[in-house]
Amino acid sequence: MRKRRIAILGSTGSIGRQALDVIAQHPDMFEVELLTANNSSELLIEQAVRFNANSVVIRNEDKYEEVSKALEPHYIKVFAGMQSICDLVAGDNIDIVLTAMVGFSGLESTVAAIRAGKTIALANKETLVAAGEIVMGLAEKHNAVILPVDSEHSAIFQCLQGSHGAEIEKIHLTASGGPFREWTREDIARASAAMALKHPKWTMGSKITIDSATMMNKGLEIIEAKWLFGVDASKINVVVHPQSIIHSMVEFADGAVIAQLGHPDMREPIQYALAYPERLSLSNRKIDFAELASLSFYAPDMEKFPAIGIAFDALEKGGNMPCIMNAANEAAVAAYLQDRIGFYDITGVVCECMAGVDFVGKPDLDAIFRTNEEAYAKASEIIGKISSVR
Ligand code: MG
Repeated sequence: MRKRRIAILGSTGSIGRQALDVIAQHPDMFEVELLTANNSSELLIEQAVRFNANSVVIRNEDKYEEVSKALEPHYIKVFAGMQSICDLVAGDNIDIVLTAMVGFSGLESTVAAIRAGKTIALANKETLVAAGEIVMGLAEKHNAVILPVDSEHSAIFQCLQGSHGAEIEKIHLTASGGPFREWTREDIARASAAMALKHPKWTMGSKITIDSATMMNKGLEIIEAKWLFGVDASKINVVVHPQSIIHSMVEFADGAVIAQLGHPDMREPIQYALAYPERLSLSNRKIDFAELASLSFYAPDMEKFPAIGIAFDALEKGGNMPCIMNAANEAAVAAYLQDRIGFYDITGVVCECMAGVDFVGKPDLDAIFRTNEEAYAKASEIIGKISSVR
């Protein structure tokens, strides 16, 4: 059998590194064709040599010389900049594109891969949040299959295998509740980024870990689920499940609920997407049910975590509203990580942007890029005002 030839966009991030771990466990099944990184040149060089990549792209053009010099003796081709990523993902030498970049910046290259009809292992949820309707439309037009990597969506996808097209009655999207689940609103209001970065269950990059603390991550995932599975927002239910053993569930018309379980480990959904529809071995921790003892579930506290309500709101308004929400959130999370604004300022900035940036009911891709810039600029302006009086 021919090996699956993989491109990893964002190979030096948390998802990218775990994907390479999966690939290293199955060298007979996968080979690495393309690796890309924004800035982490040293790790990119190391990965490219170790996995004998065909080519790499360093997005930051200032680092081209360094990467090029290091990889020349290994006959690995080196490119720089976003346009190179978009050109290379479309190459005939690539079967699967794992999109593991952070935030809106993943949209352009994901669209390029879709237009080339590649199979997409989608880890960049912001792509679907900002431009879900357009992205799913392009995927259909170009016969590009989109396989979810986000653990909840991988779980839902796994629960749907063998459902023979039965209609989904409800999606139960599980959430760990993040590090502040049991804190009071007053304490959360004073929480620093360092505290928010201590996620109890999942090891992830800093942007998604803050999104997890505000529960905006679940908000983004609601929108992601709507587009991936074509369900109405009214059929998506969020349930807090602190142990993160059930990764999400699907309920059918007869009340039967199918769940997918496992210890929290992103390598499992990554591998499922890369190997689909096959199941491969994985050196991870397996469930011992006697040891688990109990699993608990709660309704999310919408007062302490307004982001879930904000996301449902954005989804209901439609058009470019989820894009505005996403851009404002990216700007606000970056500012929070620099201690420029407080915890509840994140959702505050998002709400102000959603009220203040021009609404477009039927945006095309260009309008989405414009909206992202406008919303980011608006958010930066609001953040500047907040941080100047702090
Ligand atoms: Mg997730």
